[in-house]
Amino acid sequence: MSTGKLPSAFITTSWDDGHPLDLRLAQMLADNDLAATFYIPRKSQKETLSAEQVRELSARFEIGAHTMNHVYLDSCPPEKARQEIFDSKKWVEDVTGKSCTMFCPPAGKFSRLHLKMIEEAGFAGERTVELFSTALPRRIGTLHVMPTSIQTHSHGTSAYLRNIARRRALANLWLYIRFGAGDDWTAAAQRLVDHCKDSGGVFHLWGHSWEIDRHEQWQRLESAFRYLKQLTMQLPAITNGQLCVPSSTR
Ligand SMILES: [Zn+2]
Repeated sequence: MSTGKLPSAFITTSWDDGHPLDLRLAQMLADNDLAATFYIPRKSQKETLSAEQVRELSARFEIGAHTMNHVYLDSCPPEKARQEIFDSKKWVEDVTGKSCTMFCPPAGKFSRLHLKMIEEAGFAGERTVELFSTALPRRIGTLHVMPTSIQTHSHGTSAYLRNIARRRALANLWLYIRFGAGDDWTAAAQRLVDHCKDSGGVFHLWGHSWEIDRHEQWQRLESAFRYLKQLTMQLPAITNGQLCVPSSTR
């Protein structure tokens, strides 16, 4: 029997856009003892939670910034992008009364210039939409840039391969080939989190509550959460921010 120390592994989740259905999601997360970071803009093209609801959500979960108006940074003039980034940190902090250390650019659209702005605004980390990664956040300057593992949505093979090719992410391609087969995201999630348990790293599940609802994924989500819950003794469930500001938890 092996007496070797198991590699460090963690489970984290994140949920974008602050749609009112986030409250349903929050209840399911709480029921399954899972940690989460909700990236919430003040306004979006879709309905968003009220400031009071965001404050209530922040009692149990981390709130990250997602710009003020859910704008795509790459379609904004630099000054506007800068303002959206800086103001969103202050907005989250004013609403929650807590420091806001995480930022997520809408639709994963950002450039090096925006990374610099996110760093200058004082964020510790940025969550991207990179899929099929189990890597710890990567340092760029003082910023921790955080990939994800699985989105709660079944993309076609070509979408996964584009996501991987855009980043020339060979490690992600390897994980996709080994664990990504089939079009059921819950099956891929189980295989990938099992891989993290054995090999270490971060299993990061993310999504949008409005999208889960639109594609009737609530039952699948419930089963994925139950699977993750029984692993949290070995893979602690922590927020995105706790992974990017290690001194706060470990
Ligand atoms: Zn978004």
